[in-house]
Amino acid sequence: MNVSLLSFTPEPLRVIFTAARSCYSPSAPLEIWEKASDEEKMLALIKRTVESGHHSVLEHVSFTFGVKGISRACSHQLVRHRLASYSQQSQRYVRKTDSAAVVPGSISDVRKFKEKFDALLGEIEAFYNEMVEAGIPAEDARYILPNAVTTNIVMTMNMRELIHASSLRLCLRAQWEIRRLFLEMRKALERNEDTARLSDFVLMKCEITGFCDEADCCGIRPPKDEVLGIQKNEKGKVRAR
Ligand SMILES: Cc1cc2nc3c(=O)[nH]c(=O)nc-3n(C[C@H](O)[C@H](O)[C@H](O)COP(=O)(O)OP(=O)(O)OC[C@H]3O[C@@H](n4cnc5c(N)ncnc54)[C@H](O)[C@@H]3O)c2cc1C
Repeated sequence: MNVSLLSFTPEPLRVIFTAARSCYSPSAPLEIWEKASDEEKMLALIKRTVESGHHSVLEHVSFTFGVKGISRACSHQLVRHRLASYSQQSQRYVRKTDSAAVVPGSISDVRKFKEKFDALLGEIEAFYNEMVEAGIPAEDARYILPNAVTTNIVMTMNMRELIHASSLRLCLRAQWEIRRLFLEMRKALERNEDTARLSDFVLMKCEITGFCDEADCCGIRPPKDEVLGIQKNEKGKVRAR
């Protein structure tokens, strides 16, 4: 997989700072914008605003990512995030011409499964090509393609949605490929000096809340029940207090 930050709202920190400051200042937004220059001061206000739950100020800044070579299994999970815009490579108009596929480590680590997986992919590819060459439209031949085939996608998310989606998908219990995708998105922000400081807000949900709400807690943060003092009986039902 390859993830690039193609574009983003210019001066993102200054935009978010101006939005947040405008809510609590008698000054006009333009005045606040023109005076805003101290990065640490801007970040401190953004941090306080985010921690207070005043998240709408984050919606003024958007990021456009170019994603290459994720599986269709991964892209299907990605596009469930509804507050983002997507443009995905079409299987109607783009004929599959290579055998690119994502093979999970759990399969590729077991030789007999990897061999069987590769053989099946090869058979599917051959049948797909046979159908297309016989005049079956690519939009119909694609019905035989598996979740493993790769796709490219351009995605635009505002900062609020990026924080929300990342909090779910960076969790160590999230599915490995989509987790890797969100890690790569965060790295892409880190690589750009204008967005690097904002990557500090892109965290796993437990790093934001301080507790874990997963059934199978990985231990990075204590379980939610423990932190909130919720007591359960042996059947997992909350005890009345
Ligand atoms: C670990 C994990 C397992 C999952 N398993 C499954 C599964 O088995 N099957 C499945 O179908 N999905 C599954 N999903 C997808 C999940 O249900 C969500 O569709 C996905 O995570 C998108 O996130 P979201 O709904 O929080 O919000 P987004 O679509 O990213 O929207 C952001 C926020 O906007 C608000 N919002 C958006 N749309 C609406 C709306 N229509 N009404 C009210 N508020 C809205 C909500 O507050 C939402 O949290 C899974 C997700 C995770 C992280």
